[in-house]
Amino acid sequence: MARMYVQIEPLLIEVDGPLAVNTGFRRGLIHRTVERDAEGLAYIPASSLKGRVRRACEQIARQVGLYVCRAPRPNGMCSAHKQPCLVCRVFGSPGRGNGLHWQDARLVRNYQKVFAGDEGNRQAQFYTRTQVQLSRALGIAAHDHLFTSEFAIENLHFEAGITGWLDITPIADEDATGGYELLLLLAGLRLVNTLGSGGSRGSGHCVIHLPEQVTVGQRSIAVAEIFAFVSLLNEFDREAQNGT
Ligand SMILES: [Zn+2]
Repeated sequence: MARMYVQIEPLLIEVDGPLAVNTGFRRGLIHRTVERDAEGLAYIPASSLKGRVRRACEQIARQVGLYVCRAPRPNGMCSAHKQPCLVCRVFGSPGRGNGLHWQDARLVRNYQKVFAGDEGNRQAQFYTRTQVQLSRALGIAAHDHLFTSEFAIENLHFEAGITGWLDITPIADEDATGGYELLLLLAGLRLVNTLGSGGSRGSGHCVIHLPEQVTVGQRSIAVAEIFAFVSLLNEFDREAQNGT
C-alpha cells in the first residue's frame, strides 16, 4: 500500500439542463436559492459534487459485488477501528480523514466574463419557477403549497478538480496507475449524470468530462490506461484481505 499524490484536473462539467444547487436559504419570496460565490456567480460547492460522486462510486462498487458501508448515517459507516471499504478509502469516513481536496466547481472563464460585472449580467444566470407541491397521499395540490425555486440557466459549463493524497491499493501488483482507489473514483466521476437537487424533475442533467491524463505520484498517466483495469475492480475485497 502506498500513499501517492494524485491530480485530476480539469474536470469540465457541462450542465445541459437547468441547475438547482440550493443553499437551503430563503431570499425574499424565493424559497430555494442557487449557490453564489463572492462575485455573485453560480457555482457547485465541492461538498455537493463530492456527495454525488460518492453515491455513484457506491453504486459501482455494489454492482461488482464489493462490500460498501451504509453512508451517510455515521453509525452505518466504516469505523476508524477496522478496515474501511473501498468507497471510504476514497472519500473518508467519520474519524478517518482523507487526503483528497475537492475544489468547488466554478464557471469556466468565458462564462465568468459574460456574467461578471453589474447586477443585470449576474441576474442573467438565474431564473425562478413557481411550482405547486402536490399532496402525495391525495394526488392533489396541497393547500398553501406554492413554492418558488431558483435555477441556474441551462448549458452552463463549470470547472473543478481533485488533488491530494490517496492511499493506494495496487491492482495486479501495480500502483503506478493509482490502484483500486483511483479507478473507482474515475469510474464514479464518469457515471454521474445529474447534479443539484430536483434531478427527478429533469433539472441538473450533466456530463463530467475527465481529463485525458491524470497525475499519479511523479507520473502523468492516460485515463484510458487506468480504465483498462476496470474488470479487476471486483478483486479489491480479496486483495485488501490479503494485504492485512
Ligand atoms: Zn465504508
